[in-house]
Amino acid sequence: MINVTKTFFPPIKEYQEQLQRIWNNQWLTNRGELVLELEEKLKSYLKVNHILVTINGTIPIQIALKLLGDGGEIITTPFSYVATSAAIVWENCTPVFVDIHPEYLTIDETKIEAAITEKTTAILATHVFGNPCHVEAIEAIAKKYQLKVIYDAAHAFGVTYKGISIFEYGDASTCSFHATKLFHTGEGGALFAKDTKLQHQLFYSHNFGHDGPLAFHGLGINGKISELQAAMGLTVLPHIETILAERKRVVDFYNQNLDLSQVQTLKIRANTKWNNSYYPVIFQEESVLLRVQKALNEVQIYPRRYFYPSLNTIAYLKGEKMAVSENIASRILCLPLYVELNNNELQKIVSILNVNL
Ligand SMILES: *Cc1c(COP(=O)(O)O)cnc(C)c1O
Repeated sequence: MINVTKTFFPPIKEYQEQLQRIWNNQWLTNRGELVLELEEKLKSYLKVNHILVTINGTIPIQIALKLLGDGGEIITTPFSYVATSAAIVWENCTPVFVDIHPEYLTIDETKIEAAITEKTTAILATHVFGNPCHVEAIEAIAKKYQLKVIYDAAHAFGVTYKGISIFEYGDASTCSFHATKLFHTGEGGALFAKDTKLQHQLFYSHNFGHDGPLAFHGLGINGKISELQAAMGLTVLPHIETILAERKRVVDFYNQNLDLSQVQTLKIRANTKWNNSYYPVIFQEESVLLRVQKALNEVQIYPRRYFYPSLNTIAYLKGEKMAVSENIASRILCLPLYVELNNNELQKIVSILNVNL
């Protein structure tokens, strides 16, 4: 069976060595030695000023919205994983969808201003499939209207834009280290802020608001990651160059062998060092997608309809019609992409795809 992704499992011996450290320390959570070491290593690998490693990639979106969204209207993208929009509603803010760019698939920055009202407090946009949003245009709009900017950068591990980590853009950025993501800790995530004061507030918020054992800085929640998950992160991280290179091999294969006259692929924004995190193909019509999907499923190959449906169509999100996002969502399929996918398997996927276009 070939799924859209397959979790990277490092050699178990290496994980056991990290676990041994936990047993030696007899310390399982509350920012132990392994969590602190993972943060240091990620900070230097990603070249970011601050990082807070968290329990998953959703809680950091909620924490950022709690601090920066202030219960207002949040301008957001309809083309993302449901966590992006759900976090807005969960934090008692109101999502206001703005359609996406048909080629970059990120929020269409030229449509943001028209959606701003006096209730707007923040923009929450996704660097979808690791492709950066138009961060300069968004920053200019945010400045003009005094809005906060949060990026859901769940897909963007290792991406740089103009030579700088994509996590350094916006007021805050989040990442996911879920098992299906490129770098993982089983379950996990991270929160980034350029501003040291904001980073401190985010830090307090992820640990019940504690400022020392007896004092409280403010409201908080439990967003802490444990030593067991940090152990996985410390075991996966030394393999990151292999992971990235292997994913590039798969992406190159698709690029060279798919009939690209019949399908649209992701247009990566200029000045981006991309991470080969997903391989979405956009068919000419949904009927072609369904035919390809059926043919692949018949031989136990399971691509995924990322992202479908367009989030504005989910009942509780009460979105307006988003023509581009709904249209793209109906025609887009993410092909299998993971380290161990071999050439025979890739050849099979490509042949089935090409004959069904
Ligand atoms: C995976 C993902 C999340 C959620 O991350 P978790 O670690 O699963 O909580 C949020 N946003 C996007 C775009 C994602 O793909």
